Formats: sequence, C-alpha cells, structure tokens
Amino acid sequence: MKTRKRITIAIDGHSSCGKSTVAKELACAIGIAYIDTGAMYRATTLYAMRHGLYDGAEPDVEGLTARLSDISITFDFDAASGRNVTFLGGENVEEEIRSLEVSRRVSQVSAISAVRAVLTEWQRRMGSEKSVVMDGRDIGTVVFPSADLKIFMTARPEVRAKRRYDEMVGKGETPDYAEVLASVVERDRIDSTREVSPLRQAEDAVVLDNSDMTREGQYEFILDELRRRGLIED
Ligand code: C5P
Repeated sequence: MKTRKRITIAIDGHSSCGKSTVAKELACAIGIAYIDTGAMYRATTLYAMRHGLYDGAEPDVEGLTARLSDISITFDFDAASGRNVTFLGGENVEEEIRSLEVSRRVSQVSAISAVRAVLTEWQRRMGSEKSVVMDGRDIGTVVFPSADLKIFMTARPEVRAKRRYDEMVGKGETPDYAEVLASVVERDRIDSTREVSPLRQAEDAVVLDNSDMTREGQYEFILDELRRRGLIED
C-alpha cells in the first residue's frame, strides 16, 4: 500500500483512546512518518518538573516560557527496544514521560499559550516536508487545518481508563482504577475547556468511537476513508 501524493493525516481525540497505536500502525502500513505530539507536551512537562518550574500545584508560566528555547525534543529509533522513542536533550525519556506524575501535570503545561506556539511551529516544520500522520488534540483544528484526512477519535471514559489501567499493570505498576479514571476525566476537562486550542472536533473530521471496536476494525476504518478520498492505492 502506498500514498498517491504527499499527504497529511490528523488524528485528534481524547486521552487514552488508542490514537497512537492506530496512528503508528497506519504510518507503517502506508510507509509515512508518525509524529506523536502528546509526547512533545509530555517531554516539555518533564523538563519543567526537572528544572523546578513545576514544583507546586501550578507550573511557573513565566519561568518555563523563558526557557522554551533551551528545550530540545527529538524522536529516534531505539535499537534496544526496537521502537521509536522520545528524547529530551538527547536523553531517552520514553518511559518517564508516560508516568502518572507527568500525566497529571501535562494538561496544565499544554494550556500555556507560549508552549503551544513553540510546539505548533515545530510540528508544522516536521510535517511540511514529508507525508505524516500526526496525533494530538489540535492537529486538524490548528496545526494542519487543511489536512487531507482528519479523524476525531474517542471512547467512553471508563473504557479509556481500563485500557490505561491494563497498560500500567502490564508494566508492573500497581495503579488504583478510580485514580486512573479520575485522571482521564480531569485531563478531558482541562483539554476541552482551555482557552488556547481546546480539544474539539474539526467540522470536517470523521468521528471514530472505538469503545466497542477491535484494533483491526479501527485500522480498516481509516484505510477505507483514505481509499474513498483516493489518497492511497493498494
Ligand atoms: O496524547 P497524550 O495523552 O500523550 O497527550 C498528553 C497531553 O498533551 C494531553 O492530555 C494534552 O493536554 C496535551 N496535548 C495537547 N495538544 C496536542 C497533544 C497533546 O494539548 N496536540
């Protein structure tokens, strides 16, 4: 399977609904790059935590804004794990950015307009030269408003919390389901009500509610949308 031209696919949606799993699989199948913008907000949050810019209940907006040009986030293939991973200042931070500590704080950091301005610019640059599938919250609405295909992914909060819970158990952690559910609901609330680039469905996005769908079903759904638009060929 391959693309017919240079294309941009935007996948936005709620947290923990499996956007990155589907996006990665899709990117691999049609031979284009995958960019996880949530990882960029997570790495920025970790940077703030490590530099005393998020010690209390709120991030230090001025302090973090002043340090934004020091932050270097890159993605690279990690031979040890066989995966594409996120690097912060050259250090592999893939595990750490998925921790509950970062997850609890990331929405506050991503509500800062200066942070969004910088990350949006990096994302546009990354997606300007080649075909990409990019997942996040504002890709179809702000970063690439004229993307060739926009998918808005969602699932019931309980389903998303259970997936996140299972993922953590799989990593040997001992999470509390109620706490995980509360974190998912709170993240949705902050992401959808923030002033800058709130999470919302683009008018021309196709909704994919995967509460009761298999992975293959979701993947086929997106491939069908791409075929219908004449963007890929078998
Ligand atoms: O997708 P993921 O759950 O890793 O994203 C983490 C957080 O980063 C989200 O809850 C949201 O606050 C923020 N985010 C964002 N805009 C994006 C991607 C992620 O605000 N494009």
